[in-house]
Amino acid sequence: MSSSQTALWHPFADMFEVKSSSFCVTKAEGVWIYDDSGRRYLDGTASLWYANAGHGRTEIVEAAAAQMRELESYFVFNDYTNPPAEALATRLSELSPMPGAKIFLTTGGGEAIDTAAKLARQYWAQRGQPQRTHILSRGNAYHGTNGMGTSIGGIEANQAGFGQLVPETGRVAHDDAESLREAIDRIGAEKIAAFFAEPVMGAGGLHPPEPGYLEAIAKICAENGILFVADSVICGFGRVGTWFGVERWGLQPDMITFAKGVTSGYLPLGGVVVAEHVAEPFWEEPGRVFRHGATYSGHPTVAAAAMANLDILEREKLIQRSDELEQPLHDALNSVADHPAVAEVRGGVGLLGAVELTAEALQAGGLPKLQKKIRELGVIVRPLGKALAVSPPLIITEDEIGLIGKAFAEGLDSLA
Ligand code: PLP
Repeated sequence: MSSSQTALWHPFADMFEVKSSSFCVTKAEGVWIYDDSGRRYLDGTASLWYANAGHGRTEIVEAAAAQMRELESYFVFNDYTNPPAEALATRLSELSPMPGAKIFLTTGGGEAIDTAAKLARQYWAQRGQPQRTHILSRGNAYHGTNGMGTSIGGIEANQAGFGQLVPETGRVAHDDAESLREAIDRIGAEKIAAFFAEPVMGAGGLHPPEPGYLEAIAKICAENGILFVADSVICGFGRVGTWFGVERWGLQPDMITFAKGVTSGYLPLGGVVVAEHVAEPFWEEPGRVFRHGATYSGHPTVAAAAMANLDILEREKLIQRSDELEQPLHDALNSVADHPAVAEVRGGVGLLGAVELTAEALQAGGLPKLQKKIRELGVIVRPLGKALAVSPPLIITEDEIGLIGKAFAEGLDSLA
């Protein structure tokens, strides 16, 4: 599409390029999206990791419309509440790996991150340790682009040029639990509020955790009284075969941030699962207010869409399906592992995977070329770091997974 007249400023985009050439999506159904010429493409990324239940689910549309007719929106500050927000919070709490967890609702993942980071600092202030303000995270991490998320993110390009970031944040090596221990020794556990980590690192290039890594960092946090926040914004709602991602590794973090798959993207929603002991100072003692929130926290129409989405994930057993399809997806990507332009294939953890190119191929501009070629072949994949990533809707079939592998093979051959 030529859109030289566009007024739409795209996130993370070089508008100099995009203003004269963009890709306009007009329709979607199941695992397929359609461009403005009517051509269809396999949605190999579930949009931005979120279309878990697939596109065009009228059940979700109807649930949202019915709720809009009854009560489109009303705020939930102070003592105000509404039935869908209550029902969703109860359901998410029960599905979470933390018994008795409380649910703070936001409008997306970045807002969830800022909520969790502020809550971590407030929690320690309420517990009489206000000096616990440092927030640690991993190099290469992505935690959204709000204030806290920008500051604790580990992709340096996302911080450059934004001036003073939130102080008392710091990075540890992305795959080495010992580096967390070293940072704690250096800063002092008594000054650290929380450690944030994505169970599977997403935007930083799609890196599944090394065996034992997540268990080790959870243990180090517990030993040092540091809150462990699992950022499951991409890993939740079946993406790695479990509801909140971290249960796959048997973990019970102090907080879990979520978004994306909670509504499969039909309406914007995120939130924080807060373990009972973290909520306790605010819930069990009078006058301790978490002075934080946004107009659309607990939006009833969004909550109704989320409930309908969770119904689909449960009824169609899509959480388990991700488990079943993990190997076929990994096999499809591995079919190009020996290609001379491929450095590494990563995945094997739910419906996520990536093909990293060699330094030579990257230098020759292979990543954007390959992404465009694969799109020409009818499959949507996404450049992340040095790799092209896939994360299809959980309703994908094995045959459709085969189309992804085939497009990678043909696309790579065309690079030469
Ligand atoms: N955390 C992680 C791990 C993410 O991948 C993302 C977005 O991709 C976010 C947070 C931010 O979520 P949002 O884009 O909804 O603000």
